[in-house]
Amino acid sequence: MKTSEIIELHKKYVMPTYAPGLVLVKGAGTKVQDADGNDYLDFLAGIAVLNLGHCHPAVVKAIQQQAEKLIHVSNIYYNENQPRLAQALAERSMGGKCFFCNSGAEANEGLIKLARLWGSDKGKYEVITMKNSFHGRTLATLTATGQEKVQKGFYPLPEGFRYAEFNNIESCRAAVTEKTAAILVEAVQGEGGIVAADPEFIKGLRALCDEKGLLLLFDEVQAGIGRTGKWFAFQNYEVRPDAFSLAKALGNGFPIGAVVAAPNTADVFHPGNHATTFGGTPLACAAALAVIETIEKDNLLENAQKMGALLVEKLRQTAARYDWIEGVRGCGLMVGLVLNDSAAPLQKLLQDKGLLTLATAGRVLRMVPPLIVTAEEIEHAVALIDEACAELNAAR
Ligand SMILES: *Cc1c(COP(=O)(O)O)cnc(C)c1O
Repeated sequence: MKTSEIIELHKKYVMPTYAPGLVLVKGAGTKVQDADGNDYLDFLAGIAVLNLGHCHPAVVKAIQQQAEKLIHVSNIYYNENQPRLAQALAERSMGGKCFFCNSGAEANEGLIKLARLWGSDKGKYEVITMKNSFHGRTLATLTATGQEKVQKGFYPLPEGFRYAEFNNIESCRAAVTEKTAAILVEAVQGEGGIVAADPEFIKGLRALCDEKGLLLLFDEVQAGIGRTGKWFAFQNYEVRPDAFSLAKALGNGFPIGAVVAAPNTADVFHPGNHATTFGGTPLACAAALAVIETIEKDNLLENAQKMGALLVEKLRQTAARYDWIEGVRGCGLMVGLVLNDSAAPLQKLLQDKGLLTLATAGRVLRMVPPLIVTAEEIEHAVALIDEACAELNAAR
């Protein structure tokens, strides 16, 4: 099929929830190709999903081998991969236990249910979330999301959510009531425009939760699985959550999400109060186990730290040349170039030049390249960004 035919078919039969830009047909590592044979350096990585890059051989092999053996069994039976994956996540975080699901929204929904069930005999059910946050598109998670634009048109919203200012501990304290069960936060806001929490804020949240008897929950859906140079972004802050959520990069593109609970909340759920048909299949867990093994074997946490620092340093040199670039924000390989105006024209121009990025929160150019990215690829990306900025500057 020709590119124009695929687009026509899509427009006719797929709901217009997105306005896609390219028809992508194959990928390997940091590169992806469109239907017309053009290559792109992928600094979006499926929006922080492809931490090992496209079609990583270890993940492909794990999926192939497991698919020939056993794909799905239902959670009314044990499967050999699920506990191994739960162990791998618990050992790399804070001990405890996992529940597996299929997406970020579902993992956060699980966190919210866990907090409500935990609080149910104490009369506590409210969850405090941050303004400018993003937690998903189900009714509960879009309500948790502190942005009116994702809520508009879906009223009435579920009850039990209160909002506080990110990086403002006093605002969080003021939002606590006798009904508060938990505080849910992203250590680095992704959709919100790559905004990292201040260390004092995260430490303050832990202290506030301890003081008031609340659960501290982290949404690690975007920042988890090595993206910030640690397994989980909260580990940059040396705090211990009561539970956190994972999804995006956990299966490197194979859908899987998880609720990871510390020992104190590990046994809140019991048979009958939370469940899933697809969560934690042998196939999904095989993909995720290959991801964890590869990150460790190839030292990708260290690479994320180094390459993230290099990308930020190079982009700062670009930013300094233009008064319409406000600056660069980053934590590991979550990096944002902050403009004083819409980032969409820059994103489009970069796509034409062969670099995939995303305009986020209006005026932030978001880059979340695979953790396997090399220094040469960073240099090449920044050269393209330099070129694009010079062209946009000339046209201003
Ligand atoms: C993407 C994202 C979600 C939602 O994940 P889905 O898999 O799209 O449901 C939730 N929280 C954060 C921080 C995200 O980046």
